[in-house]
Amino acid sequence: MGEKPFALLLVDDSRSTAAKLIRALGSEQYAPRIVPPDPQQVPRLASEVDLVLLCLEPAADEALTLLRRLMDVEGPGRGAPVLVVAPAEARALRLAALRLGVEVVSEPWDDDELRARMQRCFSAHELLETLAAQVSELQKLSVMDGLTLLHNHRYFQERLREEFRVAQRYDDALSLILVDLDHFKEINDRYGHPAGDDVLRQVARLLLQTMRETDIVARYGGEEFAVLLPRTPLPGAITVAERIWKELGTLPVGPDGSLRVTASLGVSGFPHRSVLSPEQLLLTADEALYRAKREGRNRIGLHSPLPLLSGTQRS
Ligand code: GH3
Ligand code: MG
Ligand code: MG
Repeated sequence: MGEKPFALLLVDDSRSTAAKLIRALGSEQYAPRIVPPDPQQVPRLASEVDLVLLCLEPAADEALTLLRRLMDVEGPGRGAPVLVVAPAEARALRLAALRLGVEVVSEPWDDDELRARMQRCFSAHELLETLAAQVSELQKLSVMDGLTLLHNHRYFQERLREEFRVAQRYDDALSLILVDLDHFKEINDRYGHPAGDDVLRQVARLLLQTMRETDIVARYGGEEFAVLLPRTPLPGAITVAERIWKELGTLPVGPDGSLRVTASLGVSGFPHRSVLSPEQLLLTADEALYRAKREGRNRIGLHSPLPLLSGTQRS
C-alpha cells in the first residue's frame, strides 16, 4: 500500500452502516467520505476516489439503479471500483450485485474479509487500468510508423477510404499528394543506412510542420510519403505540393546537415471523372508521380486533364 490513504466514498442512506464501516477500517489507510445515494452526485464523486462502498438496503430500488449506473462502462462512474455492503438477509440484492460483477460483503461482516474484498477491488481495478493503458498504447503503435512516427500505411489506407466516403457523401473535395524521394538509394549507399534513416525522419518532420492538422500525413512505403487533404480541391493541393517541393529542396539533411534531397510528387483530386473510388485516387496520384519521375524527377506531376505542372523544376 502507498503512503497516501485510499480515498473511499461511502454511499449510505441511513449513515449507520457507513459509520460502522469507518470504525472497522480505521482512518490510517483510508480517507472516507459519506454521502447519500444521490444519482447525480455519486457518479461524479465516484470518478475521484479509489473505491465506492455502496451500502444497500433491501428495499432500496434506487440503490440498485445507482449501482447499475456506476457499473455502466460508458457512465461517468467508470473510474472507481465498487464494493456492495448488504444485509445477510437481502439475498436477492446481493445476487443482483454479484451478477453485475460487483464484489459483495454481507452485513454483519468479518473485518478481515471486508479488508480482503476491498483489496481484491483495488487489485482488479489496478489490473484493468494497466490493461487499458496497454491497449491504448498498442492502438497508438498499430497506426504509427516506428521510424518516422508518422501514420503508417495501414492507417493511411483506412483514412483514405473513410475520407473518400465523406467527400462523396457531402459532395466535398479530397486531394492526395504522393511524395517519393529521388535517388534515395544513393544516400544509403554513400552514407549508410542509419544516415538514410535520419534523412527519412527529417523529411517526416518537415512534412508534419508544413501540413495543417486536418491533413493526414503518412509514410506510405520506404522513402515514399502520402498526404491526404480533406476538403481541398486540386488547385489548393497543387499549392501545398509546391510548398512541400520547395521546402524539401532546401532542407538541410544528413549527419551534419550538409546534404540536400529532392523529391518527385504526384497530385490527384476528387471530384474528377476518372476518380470514382479511393483506389482510383491513389492510382492517379501514383501515375502522376511516375510521370514526374520519367520526366526527370525533382518536379510535380499532376493527374490530367490539367496540363502537367513541369514548370516547377528548380532553376
Ligand atoms: P527514385 O528516384 O527512382 O525513387 O530512386 P530511389 O533510389 O529513391 O528509389 P528505389 O526504389 O530504387 O530505392 C528506394 C530506396 O529507399 C532503397 C531503400 O534501401 C531505401 N529505403 C527504403 N526504406 C528505407 C528505410 O527505412 N531506411 C533507409 N535508410 N532506406 C530505406
Ligand atoms: Mg525514391
Ligand atoms: Mg519509392
